[in-house]
Amino acid sequence: DYALYHGKRHRRGTVNIFTVDHDTQIQRDAAVEIALRKADLERELVVVFQPIVDIASDRTVAFEALARWKSVALGDVPPTQFIPIAERSGLIGRLTVILLGKALAAARHWPDTIRLSFNLSAHDLCSPQIVLQIIQMLNDAPIETSRIDLEITETALLHDMEQVQEAIRMLKLLGCSVSLDDFGTGYSSLSHLHALPFTKIKIDRSFVQGMDSKPASYKIVKSLLALTRDMGIDCVVEGVETVEEMSLLRELGGKMVQGYYFSRPMEEKDIAGFLADRARPEPMLRSG
Ligand code: C2E
Ligand code: MG
Ligand code: MG
Ligand code: MG
Repeated sequence: DYALYHGKRHRRGTVNIFTVDHDTQIQRDAAVEIALRKADLERELVVVFQPIVDIASDRTVAFEALARWKSVALGDVPPTQFIPIAERSGLIGRLTVILLGKALAAARHWPDTIRLSFNLSAHDLCSPQIVLQIIQMLNDAPIETSRIDLEITETALLHDMEQVQEAIRMLKLLGCSVSLDDFGTGYSSLSHLHALPFTKIKIDRSFVQGMDSKPASYKIVKSLLALTRDMGIDCVVEGVETVEEMSLLRELGGKMVQGYYFSRPMEEKDIAGFLADRARPEPMLRSG
């Protein structure tokens, strides 16, 4: 029977493909976990920095620290791959401490008008031991804690809301700001905004990309900007790439933006040059 034959073949093929992909993924994840455990992470982890720009003044107001892993065993591994694996395998706290140390060491050389944004994992906030270590590092930090923003991705705000809430409270008492990252991608964005004392949200780049062609995206960004204005909290729009997106955001009264339009994440050594270039009055010298 032709249909049955093809149905079967198709089904078997699908199962095979799924199995291969699934196994490959598991093997790949296992290799990453083993490499993470064996690596000299103090050496192999690097922090790069992406500017956050204030629209009204056209000034760089902060840099977000972003992790890069130059693995001796595996080559360059992106954070979208190794951070979730570090979280699942209980290694994230160690990574966070190393990365925070490097980010703070870089920020000590910046003008004091420039803030540091640093990504914390919600898993970090569920471990009292890691929270204590983070608090100690922030307390001894070479820059004022009032210049530090801690970003927490909302998709990672899982079950232990009470512990996360308590940790956020302590970090704010230290003088840090706490931001809700990738806003709109989680399951209950608005209830997070309601339940946790965030000082800022970062609108996920999926809403920004296509806001000039998709009316729904445009309206979501517009509403979120209005919402944060009404609530009196800060807002950064992530993933701005084009001049069209930039002018729409200006029109809508956006406050801060981050994206390839201004710069990709850069190495620490390039920051001084970037700031000097942007401080020059000639608009032709500006990126974008
Ligand atoms: P995130 O915190 O939302 O960081 C923004 C991501 O968007 C970065 O990706 C950045 O390079 C990228 N990006 C910025 N502007 C644009 C743009 O205009 N277009 C596009 N296509 N992308 C843009 P990256 O560096 O690959 O980091 C991915 C995610 O990994 C971060 O998302 C964050 O959730 C996590 N991550 C990175 N570094 C750390 C870290 O040190 N600790 C923790 N816990 N998570 C980190
Ligand atoms: Mg972030
Ligand atoms: Mg984000
Ligand atoms: Mg993200």
